[in-house]
Amino acid sequence: RSNYRNLIVGADTKIPLSNGLYTTAINFDNAASTPPFVSVMEEINHFAGMYSSIHRGTGYKSQLSSKVYEEARSTILKFVNADPFRDTVIFVKNTTEAINKLSYRLWDGNKKSVILSTWMEHHSNDLPWRNKYQVDYVQTDPSGKLSLEDLEVRLAKHKGNVKLVTVTGASNVTGYVNPIHKIAELAHRYNAKILVDGAQLVPHNSINMNPQNSLQSIDYLVFSAHKMYAPFGTGVLIGPEETFNKGISEFVGGGTAETVTHNWVVWEKPPHNEEAGTPNLMGVVALAAAVKTLSGLGMKNVDHYENQLTNYANSKLNSIPGIKVYSHTVHGEPRIGVIPFNIKGIAHEQVAKILSNQAGIAVRTGCFCTQPYIQSLLGISPKQMELYRKRRDIPRPGVVRISFGLYNDFSEIDILIQLLERIAKHPTSYI
Ligand code: PMP
Repeated sequence: RSNYRNLIVGADTKIPLSNGLYTTAINFDNAASTPPFVSVMEEINHFAGMYSSIHRGTGYKSQLSSKVYEEARSTILKFVNADPFRDTVIFVKNTTEAINKLSYRLWDGNKKSVILSTWMEHHSNDLPWRNKYQVDYVQTDPSGKLSLEDLEVRLAKHKGNVKLVTVTGASNVTGYVNPIHKIAELAHRYNAKILVDGAQLVPHNSINMNPQNSLQSIDYLVFSAHKMYAPFGTGVLIGPEETFNKGISEFVGGGTAETVTHNWVVWEKPPHNEEAGTPNLMGVVALAAAVKTLSGLGMKNVDHYENQLTNYANSKLNSIPGIKVYSHTVHGEPRIGVIPFNIKGIAHEQVAKILSNQAGIAVRTGCFCTQPYIQSLLGISPKQMELYRKRRDIPRPGVVRISFGLYNDFSEIDILIQLLERIAKHPTSYI
């Protein structure tokens, strides 16, 4: 069993199956959202008795609230080794909002500016860049890994115009971990900045925004609390203060201005000018508690345990006839615990339904907001996509995705594998 299991709220919740019997829920959908840490909920409960209006309140509880909120920024800065003299931590709703905010802030009206995204990005790290900038996409190889050769070709092709290389730290489809420091070095050689979408990487791996070699540093990092054992509604955007110093934020109002007359405004300094309205204090308290818990466990230990789970599941899945796994890593290659697969002769949604109804196993199916990547992994042609565009009634392509958290057990994988073996043997009896 996982040594981390008792750190999680509801890891052993009983849920009903389709036959009316109850079983312990198995959650293999951690790439979407994780359950909270006990420590996080305890902190929320404790702080519920202490919180009050933040930033301008004068009472004891208000002052404490402001202090706790501001201290959370330092906790997060340290966790990812951001530069306390250069970087600012801005609290937002989630990764998606963080990327939209940055896309707004980086826009300088220069139509020649190119954003270099990749084929493996979540829609949240693709769509916010479109319609403003020219967006080009770094290709993946047939196994879905990012091609650094292609990155260099495109950096050279758009020489001088690439403003930002934006890349996921780890894929929410294949679990591949990208070599973000090598990518940073290449981007910096071409005078571009780098944004790492850390939604999947930060909860599972240690991340260092400032390694010894400064050419390899990460300029911008974004991630979400709900994927790292804290509740929904809190995300983080980290980047150099100077990015947010000039111009005006896309959202303005309470908290963003220092002096206001009918005729002019003096804006607050970052990060406050970027956090319009009353902030999500409890969400930030929860995220800081989750970060402290993860730091205490040690991200290397978390990564090590999750890798064991992933290798175990991978080898079992690959040995079942009729199952096709879409991610392939060789021993020692970094990855997170996300595995995509399909079973021959049965639709992905159907597999997910059976897993839930018969064994209480939660997975996710479809394209996971990463449609272009799934299209390339499954070899779906643009012509076929045109058909999907016209016909809403035909079933969409997709895969089944299992994704692990640090509290998952090997025995849970065994239950999954037993059921998958049965489905793969007689898929038609399940249709
Ligand atoms: N990027 C990646 C790689 C993700 O996996 C996700 C969440 N599925 C997001 C961005 C978006 O995160 P959020 O929904 O918290 O904004």
